[in-house]
Amino acid sequence: MRTIHAFALLLLCALLSACDPARRSASAGGDDGVIEVVFLQMNDVYEISPMPSDNSGGLARVATVRQELMKNNPNVITVLAGDFISPSVIGTLKYEGKRIRGKHMVETLNTLGLDWVVFGNHEFDYDDQADLQARLDESKFKWLGANVRMKNADGSLAPFSKNTGAAKENCPDNAVITVKDADGTSVRIGLFGVLIGTGRKPWVSYTDPFTTAVQQYNDLKTKSDVVIGMTHLDISDDLKLAGMLPDVPLFMGGHDHTNMLRHAGNSVVAKADANARSVYVHTLRYNTRTRKATVSSQLRRIDGSIADEPATAAVVGRWEKIKNESLASSGFDPAKKVTDLKTPLDCREAIVRNQQTEAGKMITGAMLSASRTKPECALLNSGSIRVDDVLSGTLTELDIVRMLPFGGGLSEVEMKGSLLLKTLDAGRSNQGNGGYLQIAGARYDEAGKRWLIAEKPLDAARVYRVVLPDFLLTGNEQNMGFLKTAAAADGKGTTNPEVISLVKPLATDKADLRNDIRLALIDFLRK
Ligand SMILES: [Zn+2]
Repeated sequence: MRTIHAFALLLLCALLSACDPARRSASAGGDDGVIEVVFLQMNDVYEISPMPSDNSGGLARVATVRQELMKNNPNVITVLAGDFISPSVIGTLKYEGKRIRGKHMVETLNTLGLDWVVFGNHEFDYDDQADLQARLDESKFKWLGANVRMKNADGSLAPFSKNTGAAKENCPDNAVITVKDADGTSVRIGLFGVLIGTGRKPWVSYTDPFTTAVQQYNDLKTKSDVVIGMTHLDISDDLKLAGMLPDVPLFMGGHDHTNMLRHAGNSVVAKADANARSVYVHTLRYNTRTRKATVSSQLRRIDGSIADEPATAAVVGRWEKIKNESLASSGFDPAKKVTDLKTPLDCREAIVRNQQTEAGKMITGAMLSASRTKPECALLNSGSIRVDDVLSGTLTELDIVRMLPFGGGLSEVEMKGSLLLKTLDAGRSNQGNGGYLQIAGARYDEAGKRWLIAEKPLDAARVYRVVLPDFLLTGNEQNMGFLKTAAAADGKGTTNPEVISLVKPLATDKADLRNDIRLALIDFLRK
């Protein structure tokens, strides 16, 4: 019985391989000493669906590209070079009583067939480490980040890890992936990942990405045929690293949001457009006889000409439905028009975190309009503007939510001029960061090196009426811990000696626009 079974199995194998064209050529030609491995690269993906502005992107389309590539060559490695857990509209919403916080991204990328990611700075957006841990545990793909560690409460460091059922699996600093083709050629690909250290949370610790990358390379070069880097760095740092590691033919990078292919010596640094508006397809060709690797890279636009892959589209559709239901329950009608923009509204982070903008003027205008105490100025932390895109044409309620995904209420305060001065100065020193303030009613007089309120010099001894997001009064904005204010327990005054009074709307009053800055903005723009 046993022999017959074994024989039948052999026969079946022979029949199967005869039907497989790749295998047939292998048995005819033998090992040709050349192997091709395809890397499908995304980076900086915050949206699972096509972008509303131009219908580009969409992860179900990327999944189709992946499947098509795999038809030609099963050796496709799909990677995402950081930034995907946050921010997004869906991520800020609640589902089944919990904030979604990137769960939808992991589920969609799992279905798409993602293999490897490197941590990006946005993976450390959530205050609670448990949110990132949940995403790690849910992910079917592997995470690299040789220069980042989790800092425990006692200050000790440990690798980030995934809890996969019974086992705990540490995220590796590097990996050797052995790939074999149909004719038996094989190559050992060493892969490492490093990232920028700007994602600041008390439970995260970084080492220098350059020295760490060199260490990883030295470790990998003895046990692999070719070493590839995954990086989440500024392009200037990518090029510096490529200069330090001339034998790494390919760095798949992120953090920059527009596509680029930069050459540095024999190396190539590639970044696709954010939100999967494009992907990079890299073909690595390795010759086992010459031990030489070459890379050819092709940018592929992701647009409406690519059909959705059904399984990924089903996951995306499910989350879009959750989004629409959740937004509706918060009082938004996603598709409903708010206004027609006469000129494009630039909400890119590089703009709103560095200068006074039209978007800032619009939102602070809405804050003043919704207020009840006639504030003299409105202050908005620019980090609350998250869409990172240029909006144009018809603005819908969904666009407003994309612009201000965190929402949140407005507080009206009377504060001492000395505190207002400190706040305005901190906003200025936060230029380039989310703590940079968009301001109405006040401006910095460059010539006089002073602040003007309603065109009059700020008087530190006076009391000013100011409207600002509740968030700023938590004291959690960068360099603004001194703004921490709550209503005093006796109902008179506040816990902050420099804040004389604090007015907040009744949380139960749904008609009070001060309960959600987005509702205030929608109302303001419709007027
Ligand atoms: Zn980034």
